Amino acid sequence: MNRFAVSNSPSEGPTVDEASVLHVDLDAFFASVEILDDPKLQGKPVCVGGAGARGVIASASYEARRFGVRSAMPSLIALRLCPDLIILPGRFERYEAYSRRFRDIINDLTPDFEPLGLDEIFCDLRSLRRLHVAPLLAAAQLRQRISDELALRSGIGLGRNKLFAKLASKQAKPRVVGGELVEGPGVVWVSPTLEAEWLEQLPVRALWGVGPATAAKLERLGLRYVRELAHVDEATLAQHVGVAMASSLSAYAKGEDHREVVVSREAKSVGHDQTFARSLERLDEIVDALKVHAAVVARALRGESRVARTITVIVRFDDRTSVSRAQTLAFGLDDEMGIAAIATALIQTINLTGAVRLLGLHASTFLERERNALQLSFAIDTTTVDPRVRASETGLERQVDREALRDAVDEVRRRFGRTSLGTASELKEGGVHIEVQRGSHAFGPNQSRSDE
Ligand SMILES: [Mg+2]
Repeated sequence: MNRFAVSNSPSEGPTVDEASVLHVDLDAFFASVEILDDPKLQGKPVCVGGAGARGVIASASYEARRFGVRSAMPSLIALRLCPDLIILPGRFERYEAYSRRFRDIINDLTPDFEPLGLDEIFCDLRSLRRLHVAPLLAAAQLRQRISDELALRSGIGLGRNKLFAKLASKQAKPRVVGGELVEGPGVVWVSPTLEAEWLEQLPVRALWGVGPATAAKLERLGLRYVRELAHVDEATLAQHVGVAMASSLSAYAKGEDHREVVVSREAKSVGHDQTFARSLERLDEIVDALKVHAAVVARALRGESRVARTITVIVRFDDRTSVSRAQTLAFGLDDEMGIAAIATALIQTINLTGAVRLLGLHASTFLERERNALQLSFAIDTTTVDPRVRASETGLERQVDREALRDAVDEVRRRFGRTSLGTASELKEGGVHIEVQRGSHAFGPNQSRSDE
């Protein structure tokens, strides 16, 4: 057994500073989802890929791998190795659905993650420092949840950078040795004291970005293992594999990898979409629906102890065109009144001449809500979430709330304009009065409609 593989004994494991990056990779993802959806495939050699003469295998079950079938292999070769191979065309919407649930599980550990395709995710664990999380225990629990909730297997790697985390997750997985499946350790941590030795014995093709063509070039130079790579200077390497590849290979050979886990909070949102059985035609109905949406979104935000700075409204009409409007605020919101106020201001700027078939409300650009942030503060702290818009019991602060919201609503109108004059309505609870107009003419600027 690999002595670098550490099983689940968190008491002896690293701190988050010694294992700041976690990489999790689902095993045989597409093929596994196919088997879950059709239990008759259980125990059979199953692949997802192109079955035609020029088809390539995208994902192979471990049953298929026992025959030597691998992803990226031409399907004709795979069929020669395993004549009973079942090659399925793939259903990406199913994989995406599983992938979303996978991300939700990861998000429970930390919001600081970077997906890589549908079945791999990097996590930056440093944000967990104060919570005294033991990375090995967190990894073992993550793997258990993925197994319990998705019925999928995974390998998890831990290291001080992306390079080691990814190499380690590969080592954590099951492998085929002599036609037999050998279980992997599941979780592998590369200890800083052993990482140089561990890295040196790996083949160069294990390194990130080294595909068959680069591996062949390196082999022609007599470079099969990382330890050999470490002795070649970068300029020489560059003559054969190009400057960019030479630069990363030289760094990797020394265990260096300065790539950060890139967290795209902007891309993540908490939202609620509803398609109506009967399309909405009246503005008061639309505003009422938005209030319900705002309550759902606010509850979700508070559940995650987050406040959102960006509110987006999406409208889809009966003719299948859609319009969206977003406003990013100087402060964060997590209450339905505030969210509804901004959403209502946004919806006013949309020319609602058609019947509304779908209404969506999304909140994004998250900030952490500080735990002790509810104390009374008249000084406006600009370094954190603006305290003016936090829920507060005091009437005075509530007064300031309204001003901040009014400013934000004015900002929406200044940016997008008003579509026309029309009836006035009101957002009642909480007392923020928002004028609502509706007209059949679009006087507003920049009405951007797009096809779905
Ligand atoms: Mg995978």
